[in-house]
Amino acid sequence: MGVIRELPTSVVNQIAAGEVVERPASVVKELLENAIDAGATRVELAVERGGKDLIRVADDGCGIAREDLPLAFRPHATSKLREAEQLHHVRTLGFRGEALAAIAEVSRVRCQSRTAATEVGAELLIEGGVPAEIRDCGGPVGTVFEVRNLFFNTPVRRSFLKSDTTEAGHVAEMFTRIALAHPTLHLTFRSGSKTLYDLPPVTGLKDRVAVFFGRELAESLLWVESEVDGIHLWGYVAHPSQSRSSAKGQYLFVGGRYVRDRSLGHALSEAYRGLLMVGRVPVAFLHLELPPEEVDVNVHPTKVEVRFRDSQRIYGQLLRTVRQTFLTSDLHGRLQAPS
Ligand code: ADP
Ligand code: MG
Repeated sequence: MGVIRELPTSVVNQIAAGEVVERPASVVKELLENAIDAGATRVELAVERGGKDLIRVADDGCGIAREDLPLAFRPHATSKLREAEQLHHVRTLGFRGEALAAIAEVSRVRCQSRTAATEVGAELLIEGGVPAEIRDCGGPVGTVFEVRNLFFNTPVRRSFLKSDTTEAGHVAEMFTRIALAHPTLHLTFRSGSKTLYDLPPVTGLKDRVAVFFGRELAESLLWVESEVDGIHLWGYVAHPSQSRSSAKGQYLFVGGRYVRDRSLGHALSEAYRGLLMVGRVPVAFLHLELPPEEVDVNVHPTKVEVRFRDSQRIYGQLLRTVRQTFLTSDLHGRLQAPS
């Protein structure tokens, strides 16, 4: 007799949830990205106990229609993608329709939402993936998510979470990435009873950098930009004297999405070669915009890693663009290689 069995749906869902939701910061990322996709101009984030007890995200975006509310929490249900054809042309941060389902599977969620089409909003509670009845609620146009007791039904996962302070740190890092990628968004962040950030919309990345990394570093930034065969690279690199002992000051965004890419990190280090002391790592805030067919963001559920069709080309472009900036700024004259 055979030994292979299809897993029960509940197990499948929990496994899937585990891929998207690793810790409170993962929930924060998904909720903030959804708010941005919804066209929000103002987003408020609040957490209790590093997000372990509560994560609350309120936005003034388009809202979710009452009849869509239960669907939003179904796995693979999305308003952002209709056919496979579009998969390689996504302009939104989300498109997999997995996040809300995953979050609701492992927590207690309350979602209140209203679109401009109705006077009355709708509220849905969903616990461990099980939705309750939809109720009327008040409130402005937009959406509020409250995610409580993350991993309450998966105690092993819950026990893997770190201290409140550590989790709050991960949340703050996620908030930083979003804030840097979207300077025109009004963003607030409260942790417990403290307001950590209240960021008015600004026109440039530089002002946001100043908030998180200080004026001195922001003032040292050098503008870099190039466009080669439709690949647009732009942003700032910091003066070599502002380098750090870790890669914590390196932010790369592809299509407005924070990504990690070892190869491009290496290209950046190469560009700074001879300008930094041993063990120092450059600080940079770079955006890449490229034709959809040049990059695949659908590599991993959290989309933090992407695949470039021709990574060598982008490597070369980044290296040359940053090098060129150093050569044409007076910094090069002042900072010769420590031989
Ligand atoms: P995805 O973002 O990949 O579409 P999600 O599970 O994150 O999948 O969200 C499912 C759907 O719920 C979205 O496609 C969107 O229609 C709706 N939605 C989620 N969050 C919001 C929000 N803050 N405002 C408006 N609609 C939202
Ligand atoms: Mg989403």
